[in-house]
Amino acid sequence: MSTTKKKSLYIAEADEPEMLDDELLVQVKATALNRADLLQKRGLYPPPQGESSIMGLEMSGVVEKAGANTSGWRRGDRVFALLPGGGYAERVSIPAGMAMRIPDHFSFEEAAAVPEVFLTAYLNLFELGGLKPDHTVLIHAGASGVGTAAIQLVREAGATSIVTAGSEEKRNTCISLGASSAIDYKAGPFAPDVLAATGGKGVDIILDFLGSSYWEQNMEALAIDGRLIVLATMGGNIVKDVDLGFMLRRRLQLIGSSLRSRSRADKIRLTAGFAAFALPLFEQGRLKPVIDSVWEWEKVNEAHQHMEKNRNTGKIILRVEQ
Ligand code: NAP
Repeated sequence: MSTTKKKSLYIAEADEPEMLDDELLVQVKATALNRADLLQKRGLYPPPQGESSIMGLEMSGVVEKAGANTSGWRRGDRVFALLPGGGYAERVSIPAGMAMRIPDHFSFEEAAAVPEVFLTAYLNLFELGGLKPDHTVLIHAGASGVGTAAIQLVREAGATSIVTAGSEEKRNTCISLGASSAIDYKAGPFAPDVLAATGGKGVDIILDFLGSSYWEQNMEALAIDGRLIVLATMGGNIVKDVDLGFMLRRRLQLIGSSLRSRSRADKIRLTAGFAAFALPLFEQGRLKPVIDSVWEWEKVNEAHQHMEKNRNTGKIILRVEQ
């Protein structure tokens, strides 16, 4: 699938993906939207060097061919994976080390809803955030794909989450997934509510997607030794008048985080850790993909508009017809 100058998407013919010996060729059954796709469409988020220019950061499907240097996979196996790009397509090749087996009770649509948001939440909560059971996490955009995954992982870790979200329906969903409280960020500053909810202590980790528009309130909301993890800058890139003394006195850490730009080896390592932790929980029904809606891939432009209008709670799925 490609973009026109008007930034609308259309289906076109493309070359078959090349496949290396340590890769699987997969027939794609479903893929999912991510905010990054909206930026990539506008030319603001190019794919990493050497990766497909077709958008799509995740997929589920069926193995068509297993490379000579792979083991354990054969034609017909159901598989899902994170991708550096190329998911909005009929076929994609993936490193076998990033392939995860789809839980038996999952549909392809459910499987496609998992990789990008759950791996992002896992990386940032556990590896970068150092999440512990006695921690409280503030998750902005709590009803987003990443937010709904993060709430569930915090719950499974035995920790506490507080979210911000823009509608009552979204906040109710966040609570039902395990958030201890949900703040209406449109009603006023969120920091006082966060401090009230934590007995004045503040939160240990913030997953932030807003950047400069939330900077001051994030600083106020962090506990001593807190970590602010910035995953996106939907509210602006530039922060003026940063008080480093405040950060120093409160021993705060600022972490910038990007999953897509990590190396293939690092994503293979991350996938292995995530699969060991999360696949049994998906099997047991403790973790669940949160699906907002499923669209035929011919309707991709309507699906993008749905995300652009912030209407989704959880993942927007594209069903790929072969
Ligand atoms: P999503 O499902 O599309 O949800 C995004 C939500 O953010 C919107 O529905 C909206 O919810 C909220 N939002 C949008 N603009 C806002 C604003 N100006 N102020 C406050 N809230 C706003 O998104 P997603 O695909 O899960 O991704 C969530 C974020 O994570 C995106 O920014 C994405 O780029 C980022 N991300 C980063 C990485 C990384 O590795 N760094 C990886 C994956 C995703 P409300 O209605 O509640 O406002």
